[in-house]
Amino acid sequence: MIDPASRTKSIELSLIRKMFEVTNPDAINLGIGEPDFNVPENIKQAMKDSIDENDTHYTSNKGIIELREEIAKKFKNENGIDTNPENILVTAGASEALFICAQAFIEKGDEVLIPDPGFLSYEACVKIANGTIVPVDCTMKNEFKLKAEDVEEKITDKTKAIILNSPSNPTGAVMEKEDVKAIADLSMDKNFLIISDEIYEKIIYDKKHYSPAKYSDNVIILNGFLKIYAMTGLRIGYLTATEDYTEELLKVHQYNIACASTTSQRGAYEALTGPQDEVHKMVNEFKRRRDLIVSRLNGMGYETVNVEGAFYVFPKIEDEDFVMKAAKAGVITVPGIAFGLNGKGHIRMSYANSYENIEKAMDILEERVVNG
Ligand code: PMP
Repeated sequence: MIDPASRTKSIELSLIRKMFEVTNPDAINLGIGEPDFNVPENIKQAMKDSIDENDTHYTSNKGIIELREEIAKKFKNENGIDTNPENILVTAGASEALFICAQAFIEKGDEVLIPDPGFLSYEACVKIANGTIVPVDCTMKNEFKLKAEDVEEKITDKTKAIILNSPSNPTGAVMEKEDVKAIADLSMDKNFLIISDEIYEKIIYDKKHYSPAKYSDNVIILNGFLKIYAMTGLRIGYLTATEDYTEELLKVHQYNIACASTTSQRGAYEALTGPQDEVHKMVNEFKRRRDLIVSRLNGMGYETVNVEGAFYVFPKIEDEDFVMKAAKAGVITVPGIAFGLNGKGHIRMSYANSYENIEKAMDILEERVVNG
């Protein structure tokens, strides 16, 4: 085999994916970050219409104008952020948005601050861009919230960017407004970029979401339809930033995928303009599941923090064999260490599974892993 590039060699395949390959197909999957709901009917219909109407050709590189106009309205009405359709790029999921941010702005010698624990793709995308990772501790003492003072300590003259993710994968932590604002202020004072991954924005309980773009111009917001409208396989997301930033991002996007899927864009348009009751139902159901999983884990003696968003819980479980024992007993989970050094001694469990399956999974863990 011809040698891969050193940047490819420097990263590993995702540990989460590896977990799926070793466990039996009947196991209850608390490993994957994927809603168990289906795409709402009105969105399905819009996509079927797009095919029937032969609306399956290339769109503008940025995405169809009607969709970008709706996204701009969403930013104004829900986030209080003034943007315009020209500064919005529709992408193949938040994953592509993240990748093009790294390719457009990070290069050798650049330091990029990422939350530890944090989503796996952050480290990989920065490394593929030849950047240097600087983890910022998100500790259990702070309920895994990223704190502005911890960020400030890690800033050097090489700091090029920070990636924020609130609500967080893998901890469910929601950042406090004062930290979001303080980091936004720092980005202006010290001149670095904030890549704000807001994909779980709407899966939030009893808290409010704040975007740093409200307080700084050095922000690229990443978001998507996948988590909130259960459209994961349809690969559709978006980003916004000021004009100077979007122009550079467009170059990479254009030569990478040309445009997002036309059919998925039609579905996304319907998602934004159609009824929102399914989203509310989904969030209420996630809240019910969160209450169940947290109380069952606490009942087994595992400490958790106040889980305020997304659909993950990150209990303190120091038994190093727990993940394997659970997998053998029929419950898939992910070792916290996969998300950074601060994940050691924790396990990520996703509650994007049915209430009944979560109950069953907790029974299995209690009977066969904890007391087994
Ligand atoms: N960011 C975070 C924090 C995620 O958890 C995920 C999906 N697991 C993504 C981005 C990628 O989302 P998409 O499927 O839209 O590419």
